[in-house]
Amino acid sequence: MDLHIGEACGVFGVYAPGHPVANLTYLGLYALQHRGQESAGIAVSDGETVTVVKDMGLVTQVFDERRLAPLDGHLAIGHVRYSTTGTSNWRNAQPVYRSVGDAGFALGHNGNLTNTAELAESLGMLPGMAAAQDLADSTTDSDLVGELLARAYAPEVRSDGRDLETALEHVLPDLAGAFTFVLMDDAHLIGVRDRHGFRPLVLGRIEGGWVLASESAALDIVGAHFVRDIEPGEMVVIDAAGVRERRYAEATPKLCLFEFVYFARPDTKLYGQSIHAARQRMGEELARQAPVDAEMVMPVPESGIPAAQGYARAAGIPYGDGLVKNRYVGRTFIQPSQQLRGQGVRLKLNPLPENIKGKRLVVVDDSIVRGTTTRQVVSMLREAGAAEVHFRVSSPPYRWPCFYGMDTGQRSELLAADMSVGEIRDFLGVDSLAYLDLDRLLTATGALPESFCTACLSGEYPVPVPDIDSKHVLEEDGAEPSPVPRAAESPHPSTS
Ligand code: AMP
Repeated sequence: MDLHIGEACGVFGVYAPGHPVANLTYLGLYALQHRGQESAGIAVSDGETVTVVKDMGLVTQVFDERRLAPLDGHLAIGHVRYSTTGTSNWRNAQPVYRSVGDAGFALGHNGNLTNTAELAESLGMLPGMAAAQDLADSTTDSDLVGELLARAYAPEVRSDGRDLETALEHVLPDLAGAFTFVLMDDAHLIGVRDRHGFRPLVLGRIEGGWVLASESAALDIVGAHFVRDIEPGEMVVIDAAGVRERRYAEATPKLCLFEFVYFARPDTKLYGQSIHAARQRMGEELARQAPVDAEMVMPVPESGIPAAQGYARAAGIPYGDGLVKNRYVGRTFIQPSQQLRGQGVRLKLNPLPENIKGKRLVVVDDSIVRGTTTRQVVSMLREAGAAEVHFRVSSPPYRWPCFYGMDTGQRSELLAADMSVGEIRDFLGVDSLAYLDLDRLLTATGALPESFCTACLSGEYPVPVPDIDSKHVLEEDGAEPSPVPRAAESPHPSTS
């Protein structure tokens, strides 16, 4: 059994009788495509039957008119899944479906649970156990949750129809780590965030109904308006009677800071802050913290654009383009091997030599994770005749693996895990390199600094994580796990 843990994802849900809910979900998922490119799925209820359609690929590859047309109903959820490592197969596509109660239920999950091993053990499905045979298809932590919920269903269907809600009340307290869920049965749409709210979820209003979405930008696209964030530790139930909310755990907000840095769309708002404006402020802070005498500030498109604009504005250096991005190429990051990733950069970015030649450049990007892309970008700029390349990153060195749903790989894959900033500068072949300090980054968000998870940048994990350097806690290969060093043992980030 390969028990692959869930990944960063996008979730969407709509309760809107009279609307084409499957089409709205398709549009919502399309707006959330950046959160997951591996698989896409939609579950729809017509009040009697829950139907799930899911497949590998982008939203537009999985769904067309023909596949959407039969998905009639008043209630739907959708999911896009992102994966860079581990098993990539149909079984891991979501929504997860379980046939219990009247019509069964469907579940979409964004985040990683941190007690997957304990939960699996409680279900008798540790790797290699014969008893696990009947659950051999359950390969994600999301499947585990589906199984736990199915087992928590009362043997008799409840007369008030609250079977799913009741099962959640039993199961949610046992889950640790990061989970934003959208769930549905034949009559209810439910949204849940873990008590830290690692991953976002918003509530929107659409004429005659309600929408749940990972990001507010997805509300705009379906013509819904933002009502509020689902609170950490909150469950909302939407049905014919309206919206009911329930707090099932005390909130300790720790939204993923990397949502602000990179992951969320710039036209999304988190903690009431425009992500685009926050990224510009990160660039401004970076210019103040790490100034350099240069002739042009340029972004690594697209992720570096707002921060480069902010840097240029604060530094008083002209902003220009030095790289053109092919609009139709997806993220190279999702390619399965390092070799393919390497080739991908050339397909994605092409330099503009006439803008670069002979110039002292400040090149701004939001983050460096593995360093593969960045190193090639630098060498392309050198080949195109740049006189100097001063690289500026609008977040601190990414040194710690995320166990809460940002799949950036194991510790050994992170460039900054064991390298000092000086060593990274030499590895990238740049004239100077600086990363934005964590306190400046937190200030630039415009939100409360203590309301963020900074684990990938600080090594401070708000929820205890498995004591291994990989996220593949339950893989069968029996590889000896190695301990995760604590933040204090690592070389302190510095700029050069
Ligand atoms: P690399 O130099 O290979 O680490 O790639 C750096 C680029 O990856 C930057 O442009 C980042 O914006 C981008 N990036 C950061 N995090 C992720 C992620 N989780 N998925 C895809 N790209 C990412």
